[in-house]
Amino acid sequence: MSPPPPHSADATTTAASIDGGGVGDWTPDSWRSKPIRQNPEYADAAALRRATAELSRLPPIVHPQEIERLKRSLRDVARGEAFLLQGGDCAELFDYCRAGAIESKVKLLLQMSLVLVWGADKRVVRIGRIAGQYAKPRSSPTEIVDGGREVPSFRGDILNGFEVEDRELDPQRLVKAYNHSAATLNYVRAAIAAGIADLHRPLNWSLGHVKDPALKTKYTEAVRFLQDMLRFMHTIGADQSPKLDTVDLYTSHEGLLLEYEQSLTRPTESPAAGPPAPPQADARAGDGSADGAGAGKPMQYYDTSAHFLWIGDRTRQIDGAHVEFFRGVANPIGIKVGPTTPASDLLALLRKLNPGREVGKVTLITRYGASRVRELLPGHIRAVEGSEHAGTVVWQCDPMHGNTRTAVVSGSDIKTRRFGDIFAELRETLRVHSDEGTYLGGVHLELTGDDVTECTGGSQGLDDADLSTNYTSFCDPRLNEKQAIELAFLVADHYRQ
Ligand code: PEP
Ligand code: MN
Repeated sequence: MSPPPPHSADATTTAASIDGGGVGDWTPDSWRSKPIRQNPEYADAAALRRATAELSRLPPIVHPQEIERLKRSLRDVARGEAFLLQGGDCAELFDYCRAGAIESKVKLLLQMSLVLVWGADKRVVRIGRIAGQYAKPRSSPTEIVDGGREVPSFRGDILNGFEVEDRELDPQRLVKAYNHSAATLNYVRAAIAAGIADLHRPLNWSLGHVKDPALKTKYTEAVRFLQDMLRFMHTIGADQSPKLDTVDLYTSHEGLLLEYEQSLTRPTESPAAGPPAPPQADARAGDGSADGAGAGKPMQYYDTSAHFLWIGDRTRQIDGAHVEFFRGVANPIGIKVGPTTPASDLLALLRKLNPGREVGKVTLITRYGASRVRELLPGHIRAVEGSEHAGTVVWQCDPMHGNTRTAVVSGSDIKTRRFGDIFAELRETLRVHSDEGTYLGGVHLELTGDDVTECTGGSQGLDDADLSTNYTSFCDPRLNEKQAIELAFLVADHYRQ
């Protein structure tokens, strides 16, 4: 075996702490001394050690230079110069690692972003909830299944299996998650390089499902405009520009399972000191770095499991393990913000996660529920924008998680969401930001390119009785392709008014 390359220290051991950018005595495992929620209790500690040791030897899934590139794009979003579209499954399954499912998701995100580019007249930054969205927080560690038996809850493919007999936690799933993430991202990259998202190819804009004549006219006009624009760009050769012919799609997942995140976190020379520093690199790109190499080179830790990680609504305690872990990594970080987030917590979180006040480092993903946005969002905006963190965050709306409801269909409970509620939260969020003089930089959606029936409403007119037709989510209900495109049209429409 060849010796490890410089700076690829095994992140499962206690690496040199970094100090100098305000992260204090952080180490890749300092989270272990903090109170932790949603933590798995593995029965076989030796098997867990073997799995994390294996992960620590494997190469990064994403490259720190790519993470830095995304950070620069998110800085543009924070400044109101670009728009962020983030979407994918609630719970990604290993089984979704198939060509068709991956292609349809990539195409859907591209198509939505074309609509948004046209509507908002801004560049769109795309991030998938893909290639690693395998860990799920649960409200209860157990559930009652058919026959009245109490079994451990399904916690996502990285922890246990959905089948009732697979509910035991299995550390080897950590390695399987790495392999499925790598295979998924490999195919995303291959498909994009092969031109699946090529603008020269006709996209499927069929609007046969739109029942409302007024909406149909509106969408038809928008589609005609987009097609004319694409044709025109092709005619003048503008679609040959490197900017358009490569499609950036970054990856993200909830940073829930810290054993996994720590194993893929690697100290790397700060790009500010390394090769090729892009001309527009933030002068503060070296903030938070430390002299970890002993050779005078600034070092930063990157969580290389994904480009973007977010901290969920259930694990964002200021003194908890998740915030501790993510305050030490250089990746851009999201925080879910909801009705249970006091405004004062928000500021404490920003001070911890972004002490250097890098613009675009933190994305606040707000999810209140359509009926509560007006009451809660202004206070959160004022707390941040009235502080020293003014202008540093990306405000993103997750109109999904505050709008989940239970429908009873043929005697059984089905988790669903109304398209109308999802759009209402988004519209109200846009309005609040415009009233407050701030910029809504993006949306965070649960969606799939498949023809599922998990959310009701939208122009197909799905109702509760349709839910059982093709409900395949193992967690939260997702927008299907048509509902997702329609939401993009409605957002575009807001900007064009
Ligand atoms: C999710 O994004 O799937 C999720 C669990 O969200 P939240 O943490 O906002 O509840
Ligand atoms: Mn979800």
